[in-house]
Amino acid sequence: MNYHCKNLNLKALTAVFMLLIESLLTAQSQKPINVIFMIGDGMGVSQVTSAFYFGEGKPNFQNFKFVGLSETSSTSDRITDSAAGATALSTGKKTYKRAIGVDKDSLAIPTILEQLQDKGYKTGLVSLTSLTHATPAAYYAHIKDRDWHEDIALDFIKSDVDFAAAGGLKFFNKRKDQKNLLNDLLKKQYRIDTVSLSKPVIGKRNLYLLAEDELPNKIQGRKDFLPEATQTALDYFSAEKKPFFLMVEGSFIDWGGHATNAEMMVKEVLDFDKTIGVVMEFIKKNPNTLLVVTADHETGGASIGKFMEKDTATGKKKEVKDKVQVNFIDNQHTAALVPVFAMGKGQELFSGVYPNNTIYHKLVEALKKSGVAVK
Ligand SMILES: [Zn+2]
Repeated sequence: MNYHCKNLNLKALTAVFMLLIESLLTAQSQKPINVIFMIGDGMGVSQVTSAFYFGEGKPNFQNFKFVGLSETSSTSDRITDSAAGATALSTGKKTYKRAIGVDKDSLAIPTILEQLQDKGYKTGLVSLTSLTHATPAAYYAHIKDRDWHEDIALDFIKSDVDFAAAGGLKFFNKRKDQKNLLNDLLKKQYRIDTVSLSKPVIGKRNLYLLAEDELPNKIQGRKDFLPEATQTALDYFSAEKKPFFLMVEGSFIDWGGHATNAEMMVKEVLDFDKTIGVVMEFIKKNPNTLLVVTADHETGGASIGKFMEKDTATGKKKEVKDKVQVNFIDNQHTAALVPVFAMGKGQELFSGVYPNNTIYHKLVEALKKSGVAVK
């Protein structure tokens, strides 16, 4: 073989090798991504900021490189609620306040969770409130009014969600219609635990209803339910070896704002941040995953301002320069833009300033890139 010929062979080999790499990369990018969607209820920029001043060490929020801002208004009111807010996120459509998975004309709209089920995804919900409360409900129920908890529970039976950990037991077993929905769920291959966050059974659906209504907040003594339930869900989905969609709600950041209770709000934000850390560890080991963290609206008009203390010598209030405090202007939701954080496959799509329902369409785009076609 002369030199010229050798060179040709090398060229051909390189071309074949490059083709192989390219097809491998395409195959890789076509693998359906896992989606973890985290909603800090009532979590505006000041709520996130509180994690930087009141936590131990650096918050996990600091590790996001792709950040956006979301405008949260509903079709009925400038200032939205968790029902319209979560429905915009779960369906891509803005709707009226109190609406659960229905459009402004009260017609059912498919949610991202339902559509991904049709694509072979496993699905999960983790919340600190009742499973029938507005935020988790907006992913599986289609009900005109958020307060119709017992109707929302009936929709849960139809939903076939694979993993759920929350409160709300009484809406399933202490109902006005005397039905015990737990029996219906057992028939649908659910393993139900109403006592503790026990190890999930692989190959079954797992439902944890660990309070009559909502779980306790951090001040009332809740331990690590949110990070642990999230870890349990991730372990379950890993063992099921299927792509998955998981929604995790930090519910009481909002309640801290409604109570204008800075301690409660901050503790709930730190708990939510700890849970973000659990998901970030998962992404390190499972890079074919997209994490999006956002809020349905801001609550309380929170700001991080001067910490004032009485000067013992003069009796006058004086600023303490190395301290800050949380102030609220109101005990209600506000129209403030809320942050959107993204990490993992498709993260770059979430930079920018956009309406809340656009977050859904960005998710759809990220899924499309991984070969999953949802509308
Ligand atoms: Zn609220």
